[in-house]
Amino acid sequence: MRCIVCESLSIRVICSACQEIFLVPKIQIRLIKNIKVYTFYSFDSLQFLLNSKYYSIGSRIYAIMAKRAMLYFKNHLPHPIKETTYALGIDSPVYNAYSHTAIILYTFRKIFTPIYGELEAQNQVKYAGKSLEFRLNNPRGLIYKSGNINCVVMDDVITTGTSMLEAREVITKGGGNFLYGIALCDAAT
Ligand SMILES: [Zn+2]
Repeated sequence: MRCIVCESLSIRVICSACQEIFLVPKIQIRLIKNIKVYTFYSFDSLQFLLNSKYYSIGSRIYAIMAKRAMLYFKNHLPHPIKETTYALGIDSPVYNAYSHTAIILYTFRKIFTPIYGELEAQNQVKYAGKSLEFRLNNPRGLIYKSGNINCVVMDDVITTGTSMLEAREVITKGGGNFLYGIALCDAAT
């Protein structure tokens, strides 16, 4: 196949040379109220990769982004060694038959034990392009069932942070210990 960026022959959807130019993780910490969310990429600078033209291969782009982010996280940040920490993904509407957050959970599985299907949303409301007011008025209705565990919450893009706040709220109410959030992209940078 050909790299979608430079069109040279490549076994991956984005060749390694282009990955080194466009997909270099840079950890940023976004504070949402007092929640810490680690992010790796600026959404604006990657929009050309994630736009509609390439949408059908979005899962492969996300998989590459997640892998590079995971390796960076593993090498640069303190992470749990003894105590098990679980990773939960925020459930959001599936647009193209794959779940971004499931890809991220799977990619980080050597650092955090994934629990797929946790934080299921009762309302399949689409937030993309919607205002903060709309998001606040239309919570996802996340459901948390795992009880007293240490967990991090993962998402593909963090925009206003309302989903992350909702996740922490239901986890805390359900007896869980929310440690921090992880999102691949920060839409605010
Ligand atoms: Zn390339």
